[in-house]
Amino acid sequence: MTAQPINGKAIAAEFRQELARKIADFPSEDMPVLAVILVGDDEASKIYVRNKQKAASEVGIGCEVMEFSSSIGEQALLNVIDELNANHHINGIIVQLPLPQHLDTLKILSRISPIKDVDGFSPYNAGLLAYNSPDAFISATPKGILHLLLSTGVELSGKHAVIIGRSNIVGKPTANLLLNQNCTVSITHSKTQDLSTIVKTADIIVAACGQARMIKGDWIKQGAIVIDVGINRVEGKLCGDVDFEGALATASFITPVPGGVGPMTVAMLLANTFQAFCRQQTEPKHCSCGHHNCHCQG
Ligand code: NAD
Repeated sequence: MTAQPINGKAIAAEFRQELARKIADFPSEDMPVLAVILVGDDEASKIYVRNKQKAASEVGIGCEVMEFSSSIGEQALLNVIDELNANHHINGIIVQLPLPQHLDTLKILSRISPIKDVDGFSPYNAGLLAYNSPDAFISATPKGILHLLLSTGVELSGKHAVIIGRSNIVGKPTANLLLNQNCTVSITHSKTQDLSTIVKTADIIVAACGQARMIKGDWIKQGAIVIDVGINRVEGKLCGDVDFEGALATASFITPVPGGVGPMTVAMLLANTFQAFCRQQTEPKHCSCGHHNCHCQG
C-alpha cells in the first residue's frame, strides 16, 4: 500500500475561497474583525501572527494586531481584554501563545468573552466542546484535523483513534472532538509506557508530540489514517512527528509536513471569526463587561 497524501494546503485554499464568498455575500455593512494580542518578541509567534493577518485580509476579515512588551503586567493585559470584550467592532479575540512566564495563561484566556473566544482556548469553550455543544468554538487545529479526516470520506464512527500528546490546545480538544464523532479514543503522552504497541492498534493516528519523526512506519497498522500535527525543524528543514517515508508503506492516508495540518489551522481560525461575527449579528448585544449571560447589567 502507498498512502495517499492529504493535501491540506489545497483543502485549506478551497475552504478560504468559500469563506471569502460567504463573507462577501453576508448582508451587513460591517466586516468581521479579529483582534490579535501579541506579547513579547518570539520570532515564531510574529510569523504566525503575520500569516493570520495576511490570510484574514484575503478573505475579507479585518485583523487588528496589538503588540505589547514582554514586561507587560497581568492586570494591564486583563484590562486590554476587557476593552476588547466591550468593543462592539471586535468580533473575535485571540492571544498568541506562548505568553511570557510571569503571565498566568489560564487567567488571561479565561478573561476573553466566550462569544469572542475564536481560538476556543477558554475553559468555557473547552467545556462546551466536552459537552458536544453546537455552541462551542472549537480550537482551530483540532477543527482542521477533523476537516482533514472527513475529507478522506472514511467513516470515523467506531474507529480507534490514538492521539499522541495531551496539550490543552491540540491533544485534549482533538480527543473530545473525535469522541464526539463516536471514535474510541486513546490519549497518550510522554509518560505513556510502550507507546508503539498502543499506536499499532490505531485506525487513526494524530501525532502531536513535537518530537521529530518519532512515530515510525512499523508502528502503523495497515490502512491507518495518519494526521501529523508536529512542526519540527531538523537541519533547517521542517518535518513532522511521523517518519513520513516510513509511514507511506502502511498508512492509507497521511498529511505531509509542511502542507498538511498547518494551513488548515489558519483557515479554521478565520471560519470561527466569521461564525462569531454572524452570531453577534443575531444575538442581543452583550453587556459592557463582554461576558455571556452575566448579571452585571452594564
Ligand atoms: P506541547 O509541547 O504543549 O505538548 C506536547 C505533548 O506531547 C505533551 O502532552 C507531551 O506529554 C507529549 N509528548 C512529548 N514527548 C513525547 C513522547 N516522547 N512520547 C509521547 N508523548 C510525548 O505541544 P503542542 O502545543 O500540543 O504541539 C505539539 C506539536 O504540534 C508541536 O510540534 C507544535 O509545533 C505542533 N503544532 C502544530 C500546529 C499546526 O497548526 N500544524 C498547531 C499547534 C501545534
